[in-house]
Amino acid sequence: IASKLLITGNGKCNICNSRVSEKGHYSSFETDRLDTLSKNFDPEKLIAFFKGLGLSLKERDGYYYPVSNQARSVYAVLSNALKKASVKVITDKYIDKISKSDGGYTIDGKNYDAVVLAVGGRAGIYKENAFSGRELIKSLDLKSSRTFPALTGAVCVGDYKTLKGVRVDAGVSLYADDKLIAKDTGELQFADYGLSGIPVFNLSSHVPYDYKEAYFEVDLFPENTEEELKNMLSDIKAMYPKYRAINALAGFTNINILKYALSKAGIHEDKLMENVADKDLDSLALWCKKSKHPMERLREYKNAQIMAGGILLSEIDDNYMCIHHKNLYITGEALDLNGECGGYNLYFAFESGYEVGQKLAK
Ligand SMILES: Cc1cc2nc3c(=O)[nH]c(=O)nc-3n(C[C@H](O)[C@H](O)[C@H](O)COP(=O)(O)OP(=O)(O)OC[C@H]3O[C@@H](n4cnc5c(N)ncnc54)[C@H](O)[C@@H]3O)c2cc1C
Repeated sequence: IASKLLITGNGKCNICNSRVSEKGHYSSFETDRLDTLSKNFDPEKLIAFFKGLGLSLKERDGYYYPVSNQARSVYAVLSNALKKASVKVITDKYIDKISKSDGGYTIDGKNYDAVVLAVGGRAGIYKENAFSGRELIKSLDLKSSRTFPALTGAVCVGDYKTLKGVRVDAGVSLYADDKLIAKDTGELQFADYGLSGIPVFNLSSHVPYDYKEAYFEVDLFPENTEEELKNMLSDIKAMYPKYRAINALAGFTNINILKYALSKAGIHEDKLMENVADKDLDSLALWCKKSKHPMERLREYKNAQIMAGGILLSEIDDNYMCIHHKNLYITGEALDLNGECGGYNLYFAFESGYEVGQKLAK
């Protein structure tokens, strides 16, 4: 129970974000339905709910975590509440069919007045035979959008071994078939397979279905123009004509990035600055502002935080009830509603679960 919850936020569980009701933090194939549903998002309600269960929360820059810094605390208060309300919990039981019975539903030979489909997604799961809602969704004839791993890194074409582990604040833009799809800024991480870090994670949810070629454009100096970088580099050249490039430029950027960028600009790191052509310094400035990283593919589900896409939002009403099946509710990641990194996905899973719970309790 709650096995995914326990690994969220690196075990610290980023449970909510104060910006959930602001536009732009969620995406869906059905933007109109997304706008309607998200109108009711209210972080205060969820925070009050968890505080009411005895969970101490802290907030930094809008990101909410348990004071304990342990996802286990979230699990503990939920588990206490279930016990207190004498809720019967059955685990390790795979459900592959929900059939309609007289005014309700039959699951595994038992009848129920209402059902909540909270089957989540395949992200972050290493087990081959992990439970999934695919068969259930099919058996209920629910329409879904395409699904794909998101909030994940991108495997890029090129040799990234020397950049592995480098973290740098950067602007990152996603292009598909030469069209700008989305951009984000934040801490970019280089990995041996390509690009990672929050801006790449957030952009991964926007990779179009049918692209032929996609690439990331990285701006390592989001606060400077290309012209300013060119001037900085020519000032350094004037200051240190007799220095090797690698030494003269040591303060310009991260040393591993510098080595990589020098080779991309065709400048040997041992070359004396006075012998480096101005046009090569311009190429260095250009690479630092607009390096291109062709994407081979996104990483697999086991390395992703969410499964993007899912059951269409037009399959539910504003109370998360399925429009074809009375008293069958759908919540959380099973729906085609994807949040950015930062507590948005757990917020939605809890918010939708809370709303349905309140309704069913009446
Ligand atoms: C590594 C990692 C870190 C993350 N960190 C954060 C974070 O810090 N903040 C944040 O907001 N989000 C985070 N997320 C995303 C967040 O965990 C999910 O969006 C959220 O857990 C979705 O909740 P859910 O209840 O909809 O689905 P899930 O948590 O996926 O739960 C679905 C449950 O349904 C069960 N199930 C599925 N099919 C069946 C079936 N047929 N029969 C029986 N049972 C079934 C599954 O076994 C599972 O227990 C992270 C995800 C990962 C993988």
